[in-house]
Amino acid sequence: MSNKIKCVVFDCDGVLVDSVSSWRTLHSFFGTQNHNLLEKFLSGEITDQEFMNLDIQMWKEVQPKIHQDDLFRAYSGIKLMPGARETVSELISNGIFVAIVSAGVDIFVSTIAGTLKVNDWIANGFNFDEDGYLLDDGIVRVSGQGKDKIINKLIQMNEFAPNEVLSIGDSDIDLSMYVEGSSFVGFNPSRENSKRAFEDAGVPIIEEKDLRLILPYVFD
Ligand SMILES: [Mg+2]
Repeated sequence: MSNKIKCVVFDCDGVLVDSVSSWRTLHSFFGTQNHNLLEKFLSGEITDQEFMNLDIQMWKEVQPKIHQDDLFRAYSGIKLMPGARETVSELISNGIFVAIVSAGVDIFVSTIAGTLKVNDWIANGFNFDEDGYLLDDGIVRVSGQGKDKIINKLIQMNEFAPNEVLSIGDSDIDLSMYVEGSSFVGFNPSRENSKRAFEDAGVPIIEEKDLRLILPYVFD
């Protein structure tokens, strides 16, 4: 095969699914808001782990016992991004490795990974007790600002060259998916910040919510 790109890595929230954040979905579900935590997190005052645990604490103040099924229910209305199914199956049928690297919620991202039949995925998430109730400590696997660590691991594990890898993200934070030599496409920039960061980075930007528009960046 003469195609240069051998691996496409997608962010999940806002890229494979038409919803800004799988964390925000849970906040709307429980009627909580974490704006000041987000600010503290972005300024480095609290870590990924603290951020996640404080989120869980807020939800437990509303509902002390939270079952796994409650969380699944919170995601029931979320839809795939238009073109997601067609795009991923086109990539896979051409022998391209497809992965999801998400700082979102694992129970949600795993459903999307299963629906789209991607080759590999990783996300942050929750611990549950044996009866399925949410425990206090979240699990950090992907730091939003450090997605390059995961991409590098993916490259090593599957013996790709960096220039065979294309990453797709919707937010400025996703620019951390870029590793030297690889490519990045900004898709559906959700905030003005993200659009500006994509422009500053000089990456291609797709504003229309149709994931099929990334295909020309894979097969050119
Ligand atoms: Mg996103």
